[in-house]
Amino acid sequence: MSETVFIDGKFYPKEKAKISVFDHGLLYGDGVFEGIRLYSRCVFRLREHLERLFSSAKYIALKIPLTIDELTWATVETCRRNGLKDGYIRLVVTRGEGDLGLSPLLCKKPSVVLIASKVKLYPEAAYRDGLKIITVPTQRMSVAALSPRVKSCNYLNNILAKLEGLNSGVNEALMLNDHGYVVECTGDNIFVVKGKKVLTPPTALGALQGITRNCIIDIAREMGFDVREEPFTRFEIFDADECFMTGTAAEVVPVVNLDARPVGNGRPGRVTKRLNRRFREIVSSDGTSLDQPLPRPKRLSRVW
Ligand code: PMP
Repeated sequence: MSETVFIDGKFYPKEKAKISVFDHGLLYGDGVFEGIRLYSRCVFRLREHLERLFSSAKYIALKIPLTIDELTWATVETCRRNGLKDGYIRLVVTRGEGDLGLSPLLCKKPSVVLIASKVKLYPEAAYRDGLKIITVPTQRMSVAALSPRVKSCNYLNNILAKLEGLNSGVNEALMLNDHGYVVECTGDNIFVVKGKKVLTPPTALGALQGITRNCIIDIAREMGFDVREEPFTRFEIFDADECFMTGTAAEVVPVVNLDARPVGNGRPGRVTKRLNRRFREIVSSDGTSLDQPLPRPKRLSRVW
């Protein structure tokens, strides 16, 4: 089956799915996006993703031309049309077509794009044996410059850090902020475990409020761990029993080595495995089902 892409209220086969070269999403990275998972024909935490999309859009003063209900329908319908049981959804809202100046005020109307496909971020061995990561010189950008809480279409900060990791022979990189605090990896949140304590950096330091992060925090609290969102440095990682990353595409990945030094005993930890097992139970039972009937929104074709 050819892939089907949603663009501005209509569905197109992949080969015909095109947007304007004058779209400010392309010209300036002016837009916001979400990466969302489909597990067993259920879209995982769709509402949370859409709420974060609207928060990101609000921060960049972008008015999404569809409502949450309309976007829910469009997301579910895109997955259905692609015949997917499990997959990865990319929802992008760009500023839309404008001229060659920066001003978003001259852009006609934001564009909404939905792609439903597959994703594989790390090799199987990363989940079984854990990942080696390094701290890279590129810092997570300052919260005062562009809040990293916004999932914007401009990922150059993360891409440069990722490249530094890849060029040094590792698949993932740890990013610090300008005060030396651990923030996150290039596309994933980070956690450390020490005894009954589970730590993750607060979003105020510049970490994205990950949907997977939120889920793992809830799971760890339910299991009786003392979960804290507080600043820490590389000291806490070197001193930890365990470390892991979380993300929609990555899911839960053990980190077993930082800067060529083993973390904990250098093997994926027991707590990481327990949290991951519970996470897997939740993702297969929690979500917006593709099989539930949703009426096609009437307004959709009139928006563009
Ligand atoms: N941090 C960054 C920079 C990200 O891009 C992502 C998403 N890939 C995450 C953290 C994890 O967020 P989520 O669990 O919502 O995917």
